Amino acid sequence: MSGAKKTDKPAAAETMPAGTTSGTPQILLAHHLKQLKLPTILREYDKVAREAAREGIDHTAYLLRLVELELIDRERRVVERRIRQARFPAVKSLDTFDFVAIPSLNKMMVLELARCEYILRHDNIIALGNSGTGKTHIGLSLGLAACQKGFSVAFTTAAGLVHQLMEARDERRLLKLQRDLTAVKLLIIDELGYVPLSTTGAELLFEVFSQRYERGSTIVTSNLPFEEWTSVFGAERLTGALLDRLTHHVHILSMNGESYRLTQSVRQRKPVPTEADVRPDAEVVDPETGEITRR
Ligand code: ADP
Ligand code: MG
Repeated sequence: MSGAKKTDKPAAAETMPAGTTSGTPQILLAHHLKQLKLPTILREYDKVAREAAREGIDHTAYLLRLVELELIDRERRVVERRIRQARFPAVKSLDTFDFVAIPSLNKMMVLELARCEYILRHDNIIALGNSGTGKTHIGLSLGLAACQKGFSVAFTTAAGLVHQLMEARDERRLLKLQRDLTAVKLLIIDELGYVPLSTTGAELLFEVFSQRYERGSTIVTSNLPFEEWTSVFGAERLTGALLDRLTHHVHILSMNGESYRLTQSVRQRKPVPTEADVRPDAEVVDPETGEITRR
């Protein structure tokens, strides 16, 4: 006999979570499925069991059906999490992009890029064009496609990223941020060129490109042609070195055209009503004869 002091509870009760030793099978099953993180099976098993009984499906097929449902749902949850982690300012897809509105953009190239193979090759994308031509929309769409294909994505503006880097440096956590930025499979840097950068800002941004070079894909959107990038980064040598890395394996999307915002708002604006439209009985002057007529 063991000399250990007897307790009231069986020894197993101390190691087993509550619920495993008592309760109906349904309660036990719910508990175990929660612990195994199988929420879809938990939600569906009863309904699918009734279906299986009706259809005369055997146990293996029943189990397979449940497991498949869990897998489909899990994939959906993972994609949703990736989208949240990407911090897109809005979720946009190519489905809502009107390629006709921007003839300078190579539609085939964009569709090919949406397949995300460039991410496996660590290629970069640069979208260049004036304001309102859909650069951010394209960046967001390619980011969304990458999330759906299973890649980690981070979306930021150039100014926002520089701010983040400076803050991290001041708080002595720059290395951690740099490591995170290098690890992400697709980094989208929007709006490079709107704000000129400080020397430190330019250097920190340069380091990001440098660390990602041939390790991960970066999408940059800019309203400035390459010749003017020096005005953003300040130093010519730094800009040269940056462009060298960024453009080594690159797909350039040329997006110069009319501003979509502007065209849309002009199209939506109704023609200004004439006096005759407002007052149908008003006098109308015939522009040719100068005759005054009534409508
Ligand atoms: P940019 O980043 O080039 O300044 P945006 O991508 O922000 O332009 O586009 C401005 C707005 O117009 C956004 O709401 C965007 O979704 C929309 N937009 C721009 N181009 C298109 C297009 N070709 N088809 C559909 N929507 C577009
Ligand atoms: Mg934009």
